[in-house]
Amino acid sequence: MRSHLVQRNLRQDPPLALRGEGIFLHDSNGKTIIDGSGGAAVACLGHGHPRVLEAMRAQLDRLTYAHTALYSCESAEALADLVLEGEPGGLTQLYLCSSGSEAMEAALKLSRQYFCEIGQPNRQKYIARRQSYHGNTLGALAAGGNAMRRAIYQPILSDAFTHVAPCYAYRDRGPAESDADYVARLAAELEAEFQRLGPQNVIAFIAEPVVGATLGCVTALPGYFAAMRAVCDRHGALLILDEVMCGMGRTGTMHAWEQEGVTPDIQVVAKGLGGGYQPIGGILANRRVMEALRDGSGAFMHGHTYQAHPMAAAAALAVQRVIREEQLLENVQAMGALLEARLVERLGNHRHVGEIRGRGLFWAAEFVADRTTRAPFDPALKLHDRIKQAAYARGLACYPMGGTIDGRQGDHVLLAPPYIATAADIDAIVDRFGDAVDAAL
Ligand code: PLP
Repeated sequence: MRSHLVQRNLRQDPPLALRGEGIFLHDSNGKTIIDGSGGAAVACLGHGHPRVLEAMRAQLDRLTYAHTALYSCESAEALADLVLEGEPGGLTQLYLCSSGSEAMEAALKLSRQYFCEIGQPNRQKYIARRQSYHGNTLGALAAGGNAMRRAIYQPILSDAFTHVAPCYAYRDRGPAESDADYVARLAAELEAEFQRLGPQNVIAFIAEPVVGATLGCVTALPGYFAAMRAVCDRHGALLILDEVMCGMGRTGTMHAWEQEGVTPDIQVVAKGLGGGYQPIGGILANRRVMEALRDGSGAFMHGHTYQAHPMAAAAALAVQRVIREEQLLENVQAMGALLEARLVERLGNHRHVGEIRGRGLFWAAEFVADRTTRAPFDPALKLHDRIKQAAYARGLACYPMGGTIDGRQGDHVLLAPPYIATAADIDAIVDRFGDAVDAAL
């Protein structure tokens, strides 16, 4: 151990990232790497975007911090106005914090407080989904169903959370089951869970519109989220959508729920909000929820020292302005279609690629030992890691995961290029990724 800094791998220090420039990272191994997944789908504008840097410098000269008990600040106010312009889906208020996990904690507490404010303190349960990830702090970890991340903390996780199956057609739809029947089965499972807990006891159903790291860009079947929303509505529970990874333009619309025909009561965002230029996350909440607090106790019983931080908000404001003013959602759609086509062309027939799936600039390949049976590789082989190493050797950073959930899924690797990616960037990413897969498998 050379470094005094705690690294993710305590036995091996990683290279230093020295400089970022557009889609590239330059590191202490002397390599120039295409940042093909923006870290974990974070760097949505790539690195060193001049407009964001300029806005950050300007904020630095004006104000770096003021406590929110006394002050609001211009950058956070402007960010809230921009993100909520037109009140998308009836969402009217933005709470800002410093990460996706913190944002999920805020969503959990806001939804609980809402029911206390309206005289239903008996609501104390959340239903989330088995293969999901909502963050690493204890509340968010309890909400998530990622078995690998939960394992050693299980005894100290709250039992306020229960889990149902996600919509994962590749593995869970029966051989003779239609899409509609599969969705109806999942809705019936959610309904049964409400009944088991007592519908009057449930605060919210929590889900990622596109499952990110846990499954690898798994989209729901058409009608799934409408069916889940209907169950929540029937029982007066809230719908919390976690768009930390798939939100803020990543799937080709500003919000992933826009493609599902539902609106959440509370939406959780982070990565694409600030693009990694500053640590920032947040929740968007609708009028129903926020007015209950305003007209009730008059305060959200939650908060952090760095909430609505001026520097973080200034960076995120610039990121959000660039996305809108440079019409980057259109580029996400166009480059997303190209990424899909190129991935299918390069790896669609690979004997170990089970499924290529995603939306917008958010794509993953699931790797299996056998395409017919869909049997995963032995998790001990850590194939996703081997692909990551092979990709790095070929000048590509990608985001791997797998073999770790319940021994049933395959390994998968996620690609999430920045919204500024060009066709040449997409070609280079797919070429390097394809070569890495061939070398690793
Ligand atoms: N929710 C989802 C869907 C995520 O993908 C993540 C992080 O990967 C989180 C929550 C937690 O965000 P953070 O790592 O910023 O705490």
